[in-house]
Amino acid sequence: MTVDLKELLKTHGLKATAQRLSILDYLIHCHTHPTAEEIHEAFPEISLATVYNTLEKLIASKLVIVMGDGLTRRYDYYGEPHYHIINKTTGEILDADNFDLHPLLDAARSASGLTITGFNIEVYGENQKKEE
Ligand SMILES: [Zn+2]
Repeated sequence: MTVDLKELLKTHGLKATAQRLSILDYLIHCHTHPTAEEIHEAFPEISLATVYNTLEKLIASKLVIVMGDGLTRRYDYYGEPHYHIINKTTGEILDADNFDLHPLLDAARSASGLTITGFNIEVYGENQKKEE
């Protein structure tokens, strides 16, 4: 994926600071849905507090989403809509874009009369039990 990150930040109303560029680039290319601590480990020169502040800005501008169960918050680049398949056995989160989400958003729009500004779909599953 080739994205002009400075331009991307600009179109979302954010100045392209070094921290925002680093963290956004990391989230675009990292498909494991890292925690803030993991992002901080990838960029030890950026303090954990700055990582959190940067993530908040990226979330507010709708470039990044946060998900999780309250204990573990995981972050994801969300410039390209997709849904998540969460393995409750392992905690692994898979990206999936093999399903057209627009009918759902159209239905939500006509049901509510709202302008739909975002969504986050999580599908849960467990490992299948092996037959003995
Ligand atoms: Zn994702």
